[in-house]
Amino acid sequence: MDAASTRVKQAWQRCREVHPTLPSPKVWFDLKGASAGQAHLGRGGLRFNPVLLSENRRAFFDQVIPHEMAHWLVFHLQDGPRLKPHGREWQAVMRDLFGLAPDVTHRFDIKRAQRAPYRYACACRQHAFTAQRHTLARGGRQYRCRQCAQTLVYCGRDVS
Ligand SMILES: [Zn+2]
Ligand SMILES: [Zn+2]
Repeated sequence: MDAASTRVKQAWQRCREVHPTLPSPKVWFDLKGASAGQAHLGRGGLRFNPVLLSENRRAFFDQVIPHEMAHWLVFHLQDGPRLKPHGREWQAVMRDLFGLAPDVTHRFDIKRAQRAPYRYACACRQHAFTAQRHTLARGGRQYRCRQCAQTLVYCGRDVS
């Protein structure tokens, strides 16, 4: 994973040229299944799939890592968590910063409907909301943590 971590760092440094305050993402190689990578604003980092990485190193270095780092950068723009995951801003980062086609149909960016991609936080942990529950919460419904009784606060969605 060392080379992959180095590549992540390079991509991050490239982003820092246009966004000097961008925090360094944590990096995990613990993703399973068909998803090559994920960007988690709530958890503060990027996750990658070690099996797909070992089988497709080239694609990871050229596509997957910049793809997820572009999400990381967009997350940290003004209003970032509310922007479309593969919208104009993300495409601009891919094209202008990484010199890549903003191609979301890449074979490793398998679009899978994540069941509960919306992250909410209380004082003690993170909670995952479905789109339906997220809509209710945005509409004013309040949810409390059963353990600490705090009202849950939205802190971004996971995207892959
Ligand atoms: Zn709690
Ligand atoms: Zn993506």
